[in-house]
Amino acid sequence: MSQGLAGGQPLLLCERMLGRLATWLRILGYDTTLIERPPAMTPPGAVLLTRRQRLAGRPGVLLVVHDRLEDQLRQVLSDLGLRPHPDQWFSRCLACNRAVEPLERSAALGLVPDHTLATAPCFTRCPACGKVFWPGSHGQRAAQRIEALLAGLPGAAP
Ligand SMILES: [Zn+2]
Repeated sequence: MSQGLAGGQPLLLCERMLGRLATWLRILGYDTTLIERPPAMTPPGAVLLTRRQRLAGRPGVLLVVHDRLEDQLRQVLSDLGLRPHPDQWFSRCLACNRAVEPLERSAALGLVPDHTLATAPCFTRCPACGKVFWPGSHGQRAAQRIEALLAGLPGAAP
């Protein structure tokens, strides 16, 4: 399936029923907007992720055929030819999809638990909602889950 994504990262429009998929696409760093209903036409450069069978085959539409989250993620990455780089993992706010910004340790004081302040290697903050993130704040095993996921993709590095 060709989506004409050469060079750029896609803008992903994700139906609300695929909310967990959207969260994981954000964890991987992809610009993912939740939508209530599909647009009449997918805007240029965007891809609509849907489970609505009747939309299959339309330009800019990717019909998600799987039920399990891992399978859905693999399908989206594989069909769109995406290879999320570790540098882009955890680069977005999971709540509002904005790119997060680095936060100094001193500025994180009072915003995160004391133990986290002392032990986390770095922090980021969402400029929109103020949420603070650090390695581990996405779930203890998020990075391992990503690595396991990517290892199953065709063309993945050994
Ligand atoms: Zn936010």
